[in-house]
Amino acid sequence: MDYITLGKTGLTVSRLGLGGIPIQKSSPAQVHTLLECLSAQGVNYIDTARGYTVSEPFLGEALEGLRDKFILATKSMARTREAMAADIDISLKNLRTDYIDLYQVHNPSMEQLDQILSEDGALLALQEAKAAGKIGHIGLTAHSAEVFARALSLDWVETVMFPYNIVESQGAELIRQCTEKNVGFIAMKPLAGGAIEDASLALRYVFANPDVSIAIPGMYSTEEALQNLAAASDTAPLTDDELERIQAVRDALGTNFCRRCNYCAPCTVGIPIPSVFLFAGYLQRYDLGQWGYGRYQTLPVKADACVECGECESRCPYHLPIREMLKTCVKDFADFEKNH
Ligand code: SF4
Ligand code: SF4
Repeated sequence: MDYITLGKTGLTVSRLGLGGIPIQKSSPAQVHTLLECLSAQGVNYIDTARGYTVSEPFLGEALEGLRDKFILATKSMARTREAMAADIDISLKNLRTDYIDLYQVHNPSMEQLDQILSEDGALLALQEAKAAGKIGHIGLTAHSAEVFARALSLDWVETVMFPYNIVESQGAELIRQCTEKNVGFIAMKPLAGGAIEDASLALRYVFANPDVSIAIPGMYSTEEALQNLAAASDTAPLTDDELERIQAVRDALGTNFCRRCNYCAPCTVGIPIPSVFLFAGYLQRYDLGQWGYGRYQTLPVKADACVECGECESRCPYHLPIREMLKTCVKDFADFEKNH
């Protein structure tokens, strides 16, 4: 296992970490077995979130006797000081620990980032928790390149997490800047939310970029873990054959795949277009239908509100057929509702 210093945090982390989303469909006992396997193979990093339903409490239970083997990272959607302070305490309780190594601001928009930085914003609670020894470091996660770029101008941001994979390399230049600014870069969705079926190839691609500190594929079973470990330990340069297969994946997925850049905004009727595609992806590709459906239900304006004006499509740099894709999402969510 390769290890790397995670930017300003100074933490020594394994380049392969555990992404905590699929833990929701597991059990604490299964997660314990998975953690024992990962720890034995040298993986020392776990990422979860307040928003991943039972992920934090399952991990807390599974970490009994193993807490000192792992660097723990979680995140919260709280934007105010009060809500963030409450979430940090809930995370500590859920994870059955008195210290979380990295606490991240979870996917803020530019406006929400303003709120987080305001007088009564969430940053204050994070800094207070850090001073009190409840958390060690502060990071930020983003799906928007605009937010990622802004995060790099904020001194308190010690790590950034952003999607990076074969079909989502739009952050490559910003990832390079992370190295320059000594900000740890955590690659989320290295398998593009399950869209890339060849997990080994997907991880080989991500780890071939030296500016990526860690990649955190979601892992559910020890079989998956062992496959990912094999890919992570192969540090040879990408072969011509692999480069060809990478191009083939791009050709297959690249034309109708939302990169969540948000250039299509604002939608005429207020549909949060990339969020619809993100949640539908969990339904369509990731075997986490209930969670994707649940998140979709929280959207104030849903895909069926589309009036087909086409404004978004004229702004999408990838020329995605957004109207048709939204119709597919509406149908998939309706089918899910009917069958569950
Ligand atoms: S086509 Fe639909 S999704 Fe796109 S801007 Fe118009 S209403 Fe919004
Ligand atoms: S639909 Fe297009 S513009 Fe909108 S977030 Fe996705 S890739 Fe970006």
